[in-house]
Amino acid sequence: MTTSLFDLTGRLAFVTGSARGIGNALALGLAQAGADVVVHGRDQAVTAEAAARIAEETGVKTHTVCFDVTDAGVVREQVGALIERLGVPDILVNNAGMQHRAPFNEFPAEKWDQVLATNLSSVFYVSQPVTTAMAERGSGKVINIGSAMSALARQTIAPYTASKGGVVMLTKGMAADLARFDIQVNAISPGYFASEMNRDLWSDPEFDGWLKNRTPANRWGKLSELVGAAVFLSSAASSFVSGQNIHVDGGLTSVV
Ligand code: NDP
Repeated sequence: MTTSLFDLTGRLAFVTGSARGIGNALALGLAQAGADVVVHGRDQAVTAEAAARIAEETGVKTHTVCFDVTDAGVVREQVGALIERLGVPDILVNNAGMQHRAPFNEFPAEKWDQVLATNLSSVFYVSQPVTTAMAERGSGKVINIGSAMSALARQTIAPYTASKGGVVMLTKGMAADLARFDIQVNAISPGYFASEMNRDLWSDPEFDGWLKNRTPANRWGKLSELVGAAVFLSSAASSFVSGQNIHVDGGLTSVV
């Protein structure tokens, strides 16, 4: 009974930015729960390799799609073609994201545009065609990847913080509009997980010490620790959970 509640066999999950990092761990975790997955990236060879690895490790079917999430026209075309090719995804994870750091007064306007387009506008661009198709079918799950920085601010990343705060509120807005189609929309907000995005931070002993001291769990997260929340929010177990934001951060955002 417990197993079937979380079983994703026969579902199709589309995870943006899943050729590496957190997205890759989530795609692998959803595949381990039984879902076929669409692996997305910008580089065809890297994306194909990531998809092949997941298929080999889990035995599910994997597919690939490559496009830049910041171009509304390209996204519409590519997501439309994806739905025509594979059918309507049951699960959409909006994970693709980036960060740029600079003091606020020196933050280049074009970097502001890039951060907002990659982290926030892309969620709108990718979700709209997918949830339109989900609504026609009458079911679906959307997970938007927020951040601990949707709840806390830090120096040099004001645009990132604004984008992730936006993701959390967009999640609530989408949930409000889409609930009537039996589509649940929720966010997962990771604390600190070592990836390419923060390579300079985890390789810096001073930051590493600060973070461990600041985090009640006293450590960085492991990528696999994000999977439980993603499987829960993708499965029948969360059929009445919508508009929520689950912090997976070792307690970081619950203490000062
Ligand atoms: P990575 O830098 O390792 O991965 C970023 C992913 O986003 C890559 O797959 C990349 O694709 C994709 N991406 C970036 N820009 C674009 C674009 N313009 N078009 C298409 N794809 C794009 O970072 P993480 O794995 O750490 O980050 C994943 C998500 O998790 C992000 O939304 C991030 O903000 C969030 N997050 C991460 C935390 C952490 O501690 N690592 C903490 C909180 C949130 P490609 O492979 O083609 O480059």
